[in-house]
Amino acid sequence: MNINKQRQIFFAKQAWLATGWQENVLFHVENGMITELAINQMATADSLVLSGPVLPSMPNLHSHAFQRVMAGMAEVSLNPNDSFWSWRDLMYKVVQKLTPEDVRIIATQLYIDLLKAGYTQIAEFHYLHHQVGGKPYQDTAEMSHQMIQAANDAGIGITLLPVLYSHSGFGGQAANNGQARFIHSTEDYLQLFASCEQALQDQPLHKLGVCFHSLRAVTKVQIETVLDAIKSACPIHIHIAEQQKEVRDCLAWSSQRPVQWLHNEIGFDARWCLVHATHLDSQEIQTIAQQKAVAGLCPTTEANLGDGIFPATEFEQANGRWGIGSDSHVSLSLVEELRTLEYSQRLRDQQRNRLHRPSQARIGDNLYQQALLGGNQACQVSIGLQEHHRADFIVLDENAPFVAASQAKDLLNRWLFACNDNLIKDVYVAGNAVIKDFHHAEEEQHKADFIKVVKKVMYDS
Ligand SMILES: [Zn+2]
Repeated sequence: MNINKQRQIFFAKQAWLATGWQENVLFHVENGMITELAINQMATADSLVLSGPVLPSMPNLHSHAFQRVMAGMAEVSLNPNDSFWSWRDLMYKVVQKLTPEDVRIIATQLYIDLLKAGYTQIAEFHYLHHQVGGKPYQDTAEMSHQMIQAANDAGIGITLLPVLYSHSGFGGQAANNGQARFIHSTEDYLQLFASCEQALQDQPLHKLGVCFHSLRAVTKVQIETVLDAIKSACPIHIHIAEQQKEVRDCLAWSSQRPVQWLHNEIGFDARWCLVHATHLDSQEIQTIAQQKAVAGLCPTTEANLGDGIFPATEFEQANGRWGIGSDSHVSLSLVEELRTLEYSQRLRDQQRNRLHRPSQARIGDNLYQQALLGGNQACQVSIGLQEHHRADFIVLDENAPFVAASQAKDLLNRWLFACNDNLIKDVYVAGNAVIKDFHHAEEEQHKADFIKVVKKVMYDS
């Protein structure tokens, strides 16, 4: 995707900076980056005046794009003990039907919808690599190319995370038939990684990271071999401790809990994003916080799958870093992710206003700030209204009643806790408007293609 190299100047009457809400903010953008920013300025003759309150957009740190096609289809009781594992059975059936073109069409529609929701970088945890039955495509990076194409067609930045997936359970158990399209040897994975590196050259919005599906899916030797081979400081993502069963299986296999095992046997640091990390003991909470790794929270998917409640209050008290992802894409709403995270803590504790910090008593402001910082770190981007950051930002609808009526200090709480309509009117990626007045320029064609794929894959029609 090309970046507009022209110098542009933007003016916002209200903008949410790292220092909180400020007025009359003038900022310059060059090569997609903010080069100058000042408050208490006047709009200049050559500046574009943004119509409503302006905030940084949000990085989305966890996605399996193809799963969007089945969102809402697993809400049927087939078994009194339905769980993550019965949801996974349906997901494996859907996987058998998808062509590379289907995957691109689903991802393009998804990415457009995520842009409309205020996300401008997507960490794509991409494990659907091969043909049905497990034979690689002629170009082994075929599916990865489809993801990059989808990101470019939508106009979103992608942090592509090709996934190493080799086994079905702890200790290197053989993969099962349902997993055939995901499986690589370590050597083949490193080749795929090199192909992705090649494909992403000269695409400044896009990043590449290493990804291990989970401790169930790779062995210690595989993790070590990959980390040894890839010397760059790229992000490293892994699903971990999402389910109690996974914790029990890990304990049975190694006498250690998953995060404890990863810390003791491999070690992790700020490059790592531990996706879900739902089931932690107090020591594991402290370890993740001390190592400055990001906990990759996906509150609506975790709620949908019945995973459990992340110990966010204790993690915040430990100064832990976290961000949000939409994972299975049962919800594409940034508002719903943040609200669900806070409300899950309230329901568990039977108390209000759980996720605050000594420096930030306003829940909405704290949620937005932490999700932005953690998302940036996990996606390896720098989104934020400040100099040397990428010029990705959103403009709220100035005509929405709570936007029009509220004082700036209350805007985030009003938006995140009291509005269900989408208030995001315009979305900019690297200084380019990709959503204008709630619309994407190519949305009609992509929507028509998406409808056809949903009918074909889910209804055979
Ligand atoms: Zn996931």
